[in-house]
Amino acid sequence: MAEKIEPLQVRVSKSKGVQVQWADGHLSTYDHAYLRDHCPCATCREAEPGGQSALPLYRPSPQVVAAEVVGNYAIHFRFSDGHQTGIYSYVYLRSICPCAECQRQRGESAPESQP
Ligand SMILES: [Zn+2]
Ligand SMILES: [Zn+2]
Repeated sequence: MAEKIEPLQVRVSKSKGVQVQWADGHLSTYDHAYLRDHCPCATCREAEPGGQSALPLYRPSPQVVAAEVVGNYAIHFRFSDGHQTGIYSYVYLRSICPCAECQRQRGESAPESQP
C-alpha cells in the first residue's frame, strides 16, 4: 500500500505541458497553467485567499521553462513569468494528476476524511 511515489522521468514540452513518468508506470500530464495554478508556495497560497479569484485579464499563461528534482522528494518548476518558488512534492504532484483515472479514484475514495 505504501508504495513509494517517485518520478522516473520528467519532461517539459511547450505544446504538451509537463509529463511525469512515475515509477509505478503511471503517466501524468500537467498543463503549464494548471501547474502554475496549483503552485503550493506560500506566496501563491496567500495571493488567493479563497474568495477572491485573481484571474489576470491579459497576462499570458505562464509556461514551465525548467524542472529539476529537489532533494529526492520534490520537483522544482521554473515558470516563464519569473515565478520559481514552487516546490511540488511527488506526493502532491501525484495527488493533483489531472488524468481521468486519478480524478475518478479521487472521487470514489476520498483519501482525506473531513471532520
Ligand atoms: Zn508559487
Ligand atoms: Zn493520473
